[in-house]
Amino acid sequence: MQVRFPLPLLPATESHLSDWRWQIRHAITSLDALERALPLTPEERAGALRAQRQGLPISITPYYLSLCDRDDPHCPVRLQCVPRVEEEEETPGDLEDPLGEIAHEVAPELVQRYPDRALLLVTDRCAVYCRFCTRSRMVGDGGGPRSLDRLEAAFRYLEQHSSIRDVIVSGGDPLAMSTSRLLPILERLRRMEHLDTIRLATRVPVTLPQRITHELVDALRPLHPLWIMTHFNHPKELTPVAVEACQRLADGGFPVMNQTVLLRGINNNATTLEQLFRGLIRARVRPYYLLQADPVKGTGHLRTSLTEGLQIMETLQGRLTGIALPKYIVDTPGGMGKVPVLPDYIVARRPGETDLRTYRGVTVTYRDPR
Ligand code: SF4
Repeated sequence: MQVRFPLPLLPATESHLSDWRWQIRHAITSLDALERALPLTPEERAGALRAQRQGLPISITPYYLSLCDRDDPHCPVRLQCVPRVEEEEETPGDLEDPLGEIAHEVAPELVQRYPDRALLLVTDRCAVYCRFCTRSRMVGDGGGPRSLDRLEAAFRYLEQHSSIRDVIVSGGDPLAMSTSRLLPILERLRRMEHLDTIRLATRVPVTLPQRITHELVDALRPLHPLWIMTHFNHPKELTPVAVEACQRLADGGFPVMNQTVLLRGINNNATTLEQLFRGLIRARVRPYYLLQADPVKGTGHLRTSLTEGLQIMETLQGRLTGIALPKYIVDTPGGMGKVPVLPDYIVARRPGETDLRTYRGVTVTYRDPR
């Protein structure tokens, strides 16, 4: 059967659309292709031209592109994937490497910022290049999936440091790699008995949900406990096919956690986030972190103030069941570590007594035991 995308993009069969390799092969990667798919504004055209020449490249899967509103340049999906001219602006405090990952590299492709966990960067490729990406300094840099040889020093470091109990496999997006390239990496990690958990950080359930096949789930199942950390930012991304991908992972026994980045014009209001977090728990995904956007160079137009984030959290507290309410986190610039931030609920403290403000706006005194 011939079907068309909601966008005048490509004639494609149902089997094409559900084939993740076809989706990657047909990803939009140039201004010309983007121009054919969407009526671009001057700001987007200038941004795409710049992205073609320098900085974070363009990649948008046909699936993710189909979620973009072609008539609305402020569409929350479009803002995440279509470059804009504002990317060339620098905001005071912007950094190439906001989390100090280069400074905390302990072996090639291995970053350690905490005593008990490490980050292994296994590829620079993603299905979609997100315009706010913290790792824009290296994603799409052309290196591709890292070979086992390239990762050998990282494996040795992990084997020699039994204080590391948790490895986050990231990139780029590890699920943009073929299963046959990814599995030996995960198997090598799984053989390290001191590792309690391996976490796979992936945006594929959002940008390329067709990748979450039964075959993939079967291949990953022997690697339990393997946690999936995904990254939905807007309820529009919770399409039936994305929800099915999340449920397939949950059925495979993988805990699925979500990190949302707070982004201006995309999700910086309590109503949108409430809808997103409720949708995630229905899809059996735990909203884990709401992340204050990192001060990545060229992303000032997408960032909010911390005050705004705190106001949103205050609105959500009490309005959302606890399992749907993520922690609000600032990952401090320079790689000094994550800080959970909360609206101020402590009104006053006296010896043995604390006055607390509840979501109802009433103040209640909690008395310590003697
Ligand atoms: S998928 Fe993740 S690593 Fe890749 S561009 Fe998006 S945020 Fe960055």
